[in-house]
Amino acid sequence: MSALYDIIIVGGGPAGLTAGLYACRARMKTILIEKALCGGQVLITDTIENFPGFPEGIKGPDLADWMTKQASHFGLEVKTSEALKVGRNKGGDGEVFSVELSGGETLEALSVIISSGARWNTLNIPGEKELTGRGVSYCATCDGPLFKNKEVVVVGGGDTALEDAIFLTKFAGKVTIIHRRDRLRATKILQERALANKKIEFCYNSVATAISGSKQCEGVAVKDVVTGAQKTIKASGVFVLIGITPNSGMAKGIVAMDEKGYIICDNDMKTSVEGIFACGDVRKKLLRQVVTAAGDGATAAFSAQHYVERSKGCEYK
Ligand code: NAP
Repeated sequence: MSALYDIIIVGGGPAGLTAGLYACRARMKTILIEKALCGGQVLITDTIENFPGFPEGIKGPDLADWMTKQASHFGLEVKTSEALKVGRNKGGDGEVFSVELSGGETLEALSVIISSGARWNTLNIPGEKELTGRGVSYCATCDGPLFKNKEVVVVGGGDTALEDAIFLTKFAGKVTIIHRRDRLRATKILQERALANKKIEFCYNSVATAISGSKQCEGVAVKDVVTGAQKTIKASGVFVLIGITPNSGMAKGIVAMDEKGYIICDNDMKTSVEGIFACGDVRKKLLRQVVTAAGDGATAAFSAQHYVERSKGCEYK
């Protein structure tokens, strides 16, 4: 067992990195656990246009890099590992939380901030799993350049689907958006851009029922949910962009969650367990954006700092 931390942060996206920045500036002994590169979904976003301060937008990997460097500059310790389980250990001197890591190590702290984000949903239709990496993708920024002058399909009608469909038109000859309703969920400005883009076609009221191809993806079987009519759309690539599922498994049974697994917090990012905080996409909230994740992270760190100082009997009231 290693030394006792003040704060363990689980997840290194914008929420976790901002929490780390604030916690370190408050001189909390803090460690951040991230299983991959820090930056979260920002890392696989081409351009972010709605993070204040960048009138021309900013490349996602650049923002992720700068956020990571800024937190490190103030002394944030980052450990590359997966957090498997958050535990509670009540002792005589109050509560100590544990975080079990994938390598077998367990860290302990006076408080935990869960900022583990969310992962992409899958369609669970025939051919999807088999052709993943062979035409089926969940990341347009990563795989878009592979489809130069090809026909591709995007499934979904939210911000990610539209933003990525527009990005894909830089490479693909044609992008067909398959959406299960007759109107889009995405922000209006993205809708306007996608509708005005001559390379994008829309297939409304439709669901993808199978992805076909022997070695590479060749097409998507589509069913019209109103008429029941079926057809196949030719596609070398299928981008599945149908929303996210929270990465909250490590805290299941510990903190309260909604039916989808989003962690329930108050405005101060306090969960149902005193000393455990949550922020960013993993928590139940109205708007999931980089800017709201960063705001959540700052609040979570401030709340955790006060909790830790109260536990140590040195809170500035
Ligand atoms: P989302 O907003 O939840 O949208 C998911 C889309 O996929 C919806 O249109 C949904 O249809 C559709 N869908 C869900 N399950 C499906 C299924 N099984 N089959 C077919 N279609 C399905 O998810 P998102 O676009 O990934 O965005 C996630 C969060 O990140 C959102 O809060 C979003 O605002 C945010 N985000 C923001 C930006 C930005 O600000 N630039 C960019 C990307 C993401 P219904 O509409 O019928 O439910």
